[in-house]
Amino acid sequence: MPSTTTHNPTSSSTPTIPVLISGAGPVGLYEALLLTQLGIPVRIIDRDTAISPNSRALGLHARSLEIFQFTGTVDDFLERGQGITNLSYYMNARLVGSLPVIQATDHSMFSTGLFLEQAKTSEIFLERLKELGVFVEYGWELLDTKVVEGGPGEEEYVETTIRRALVGGNVVEGEDRVLGDIDMRSEQKDKEYETQVVRSKYLVACDGGRSTVRHKINVAFPGRTLPQKTLMWDGHCDCDIPLSGLTAVRGPNGKTMMVFPMSDGVVRIGVEDVDMVPGEDFEQTLRELTIEHFESVVAETAYPAKFKVKSTIWLTAFKTNERRAERYVHKNRIFLAGDAAHVHSPAGGQGLNTGLHDAHNLAWKLGYVLNGLAKPEFLLPTYEERGAMADRAIRLSSKLLTRRLAKGLWADLKAYLFFLVGPFIIKVFGSFLFAPEVAMLDVEYEKNNLNRPHKTQPEPKGDYKVGVRAKDGILLPFYSSSLATDAKEKNDPQPTLRLHSLFTGIARFHILVFASDALNTSGAKEISTLLDRHVSQWQSKYTYASTLQDGYADKDLFKVHVIAGPSSTASSSPAILEMSKRGVGKGKVFVDKAGQTHQKYGFAATKGLGGITVIRPDSHVGFRVHGVNEQAWKDVDEYFSTVLVAHSE
Ligand SMILES: Cc1cc2nc3c(=O)[nH]c(=O)nc-3n(C[C@H](O)[C@H](O)[C@H](O)COP(=O)(O)OP(=O)(O)OC[C@H]3O[C@@H](n4cnc5c(N)ncnc54)[C@H](O)[C@@H]3O)c2cc1C
Repeated sequence: MPSTTTHNPTSSSTPTIPVLISGAGPVGLYEALLLTQLGIPVRIIDRDTAISPNSRALGLHARSLEIFQFTGTVDDFLERGQGITNLSYYMNARLVGSLPVIQATDHSMFSTGLFLEQAKTSEIFLERLKELGVFVEYGWELLDTKVVEGGPGEEEYVETTIRRALVGGNVVEGEDRVLGDIDMRSEQKDKEYETQVVRSKYLVACDGGRSTVRHKINVAFPGRTLPQKTLMWDGHCDCDIPLSGLTAVRGPNGKTMMVFPMSDGVVRIGVEDVDMVPGEDFEQTLRELTIEHFESVVAETAYPAKFKVKSTIWLTAFKTNERRAERYVHKNRIFLAGDAAHVHSPAGGQGLNTGLHDAHNLAWKLGYVLNGLAKPEFLLPTYEERGAMADRAIRLSSKLLTRRLAKGLWADLKAYLFFLVGPFIIKVFGSFLFAPEVAMLDVEYEKNNLNRPHKTQPEPKGDYKVGVRAKDGILLPFYSSSLATDAKEKNDPQPTLRLHSLFTGIARFHILVFASDALNTSGAKEISTLLDRHVSQWQSKYTYASTLQDGYADKDLFKVHVIAGPSSTASSSPAILEMSKRGVGKGKVFVDKAGQTHQKYGFAATKGLGGITVIRPDSHVGFRVHGVNEQAWKDVDEYFSTVLVAHSE
């Protein structure tokens, strides 16, 4: 921190609030939105005076779109973002190939990710927060924080000191320096501040890579700083290579530049610069960065194509840090999320996405704990499961970065071969780049209190393990035979739906009952009876006191979806028809026509025992059991009783 002088500080203490969020970057804003929708009052501060107009992140992956469904914001993203459709690869200014980019067709409802500037992502959250009456307190900077043990009979709390400059903005460090059309912000010293001491039950630190909170609670941030330096520029340019879409250009100078489309015809170019030299002062390098330098590096990379900058919105340089906080939770009261917890290269666009997923993972748990539905010492430590996601993002971005920056003879040889067999290789390269791994659809958590294998049944492997992201599938709403015949006569295609579209509600567990062909027999009646009994028990035992504002009409914490095997027909079981009509546990009955959804969850679609899978509110598998009989339902009861606290306890 630059040194500052504080004149005439005024200090005040405020009463305990449930959650203070420090940092209103996209991760802090998303956390605030989730908690507000969960009915939890929040206070959110940022030392800046507005959303930063310079967007670092551009890419939002399919997994993020999946979780935006929970906050009802996904349509805003689809409307404002541009789908990632093609990657064109140029070598020595010649087009090697253009690959249609499809991230995941049957894996997710969202077959492609989006390009949307980080500032616009923040705006979407900010607009929603405003609608819900929550405003960011800009200009407030967190100075210090600690967990204070409460006195006798008093709960412990977090005590945080914040300050606001009485005139102008707070002192900022150099991370947002910009050149070009926007002036560099100068450090302002010797100012007058108002200070406040805020008491909160919980503090969520979303204050970026240089997190003040992380320093104050002494959490180490081990990792490495790579010597590579990258120049990043947003603006308008003239170039003989068409740069309007996602483009990679490998130049005769051995460097690669990536081009990304932004709104209003603006393009972003990221290009390798010379490596850092030992002892180089990066702040100094940033200060001395010029448009001319950037232009010459790009011109050499695009050569023999010509390149000229027309106007500049933002020019910056960054070096790659790969670091992750050694722990995410401090004394069960302070949580790190987003860049405060992990930083790495932008290759693969994992940073912001991972941060948003941190926010989601934490919010519903805080909601449960603050509603007395879960014990802090039981549920909150499971937030540490996010650490493995940061490791995953670091590994992936590092792999992509190393590939891009590979240097030396071997790299040149590979580049030459690439040119010869480009159209073939680009397929491999493309499928690697945009596979479910990059789209973050393969995310999975380790076993913990929330992701619990069955006590006695053999533990499944791979896709069927507890902790994996819930797979998507295609289902048919249950059709009675007469309706089906009717539809056939009218030539109406039977409407299908995606399993993921059923996962609504930020705080809701979804229970999938894979019935195989049990519904065709007398089993239907039994399933219906067991289901009614157990779901109504949970609903009366576990209640959420805060007013959920998640935009869905019903506020149930549990929703059951019965998925029948392909051979199910209403005529063979009036009980199915009856279940389907009234809905089960506020869910419905569906048919897995191709049997693939059963398969994706590890249950036989025909002649099987069926099974029950509990989906956590953030759509990861929490528990699964083979069978749909009384014992299986009791096992699910037991899962909930170890995770949740009944309101009478
Ligand atoms: C060049 C580049 C390109 C990238 N591209 C992508 C991409 O395509 N996809 C992707 O997923 N990620 C990408 N990333 C990463 C992404 O930008 C970050 O992961 C993301 O900004 C993290 O958001 P955040 O809210 O955690 O932190 P930030 O955006 O850094 O926000 C932190 C906020 O905290 C505030 N703050 C800091 N200290 C204090 C304090 N003491 N008191 C109060 N407020 C404070 C700051 O003012 C700021 O508003 C990229 C990064 C870079 C550098």
